[in-house]
Amino acid sequence: MSLVKTAIRINAPASVVWSILDESHRYPDWNSVVQAMAGRTTLGKELALTFSPADRILNINVRVSRLVALREFRWGGKLPRRIWKGSFLAVKIIPLFMRGEHSLIIKPECHTSCSLIHEEAFSGLLPRLTWKLIEPMFSKAYDQMNIELKSRAERIYNKTCGFSLHPVVDKGHFREAGSNIEAVGKLHCHCVREKIEISVSERSSHNHLCGCSICWKPQGALFSQVAVVPTDSLEVTANGHKLAVVDPVATIRRYACQMCGVHMYGRVDDSNNHYYGMDFVHLELAENQSNSPPEFAGYVSSLIESGVNPSEMASIRRALSEKDIDCYDVLSPELMDVISFHRRKINGL
Ligand SMILES: [Zn+2]
Ligand SMILES: [Zn+2]
Repeated sequence: MSLVKTAIRINAPASVVWSILDESHRYPDWNSVVQAMAGRTTLGKELALTFSPADRILNINVRVSRLVALREFRWGGKLPRRIWKGSFLAVKIIPLFMRGEHSLIIKPECHTSCSLIHEEAFSGLLPRLTWKLIEPMFSKAYDQMNIELKSRAERIYNKTCGFSLHPVVDKGHFREAGSNIEAVGKLHCHCVREKIEISVSERSSHNHLCGCSICWKPQGALFSQVAVVPTDSLEVTANGHKLAVVDPVATIRRYACQMCGVHMYGRVDDSNNHYYGMDFVHLELAENQSNSPPEFAGYVSSLIESGVNPSEMASIRRALSEKDIDCYDVLSPELMDVISFHRRKINGL
């Protein structure tokens, strides 16, 4: 076996580097060596590569041979697809001449950097005979791909603008907002005329950012802002005829304006549900903007389900932490403890 071995240090978290490698449909945007990768990055699945180790472009079918999330991506291949596919030579003879096992191994160094080991192990007669030709050619190509990967990872990780977390958070001074008001007050939808009006006679709790794909978000914002109010404190006080439930089968029935689409409140009707007795509101709709600021961000990883690229998640999480907002992928630990105990209560402790 003959080994082409390259490495590079990258000033971005392992998760960013991994995501770029895993977002195979975006290879044409940055990779001059593996110029395209079609297929699913799943163990055992076949990938069709457009591969350019030098000036030539080869179309190769490979198979994912190892996949350890965030750490290791390997594939094996043996032949240019368009020349040999389906032939006896392809299946029986060519592997004796040349086979390659490509590996990309990520080693985290700290939360903000990692190193990449990028290798290809060749076996067969051909590499042995032509090693002096193959080794420098592949080393040069993989060094080039490493540089391109490093450049993309560091650029994505260091991106500090270009996305809106939420208008309230983007302004930056939300921590200074007072949170001692006694009642949320009136909330309105975005219609110009005949606005729906909701009145909340109590203060809100647990105001947070939500990254799920269901909650209503201001246009362009990654997150929704959601707070909890007691169900018996909320009343529809104007133009309630414009309200409709967004999804009748969802656990949280979200009442939205049929004209402007704004979600006015969410309510749970199932008395066994842990949210029963609490309504959900979006505080940016309130007349009084002195309501409590967001305390944490929940369902952050769910942003990916809404179309955010995984490689951008680290910079989004970092932007939240720079705003002093803790990130969780469900809800805050304290709320999750309450929900878990509720499940026990339902089952009779
Ligand atoms: Zn409206
Ligand atoms: Zn949500």
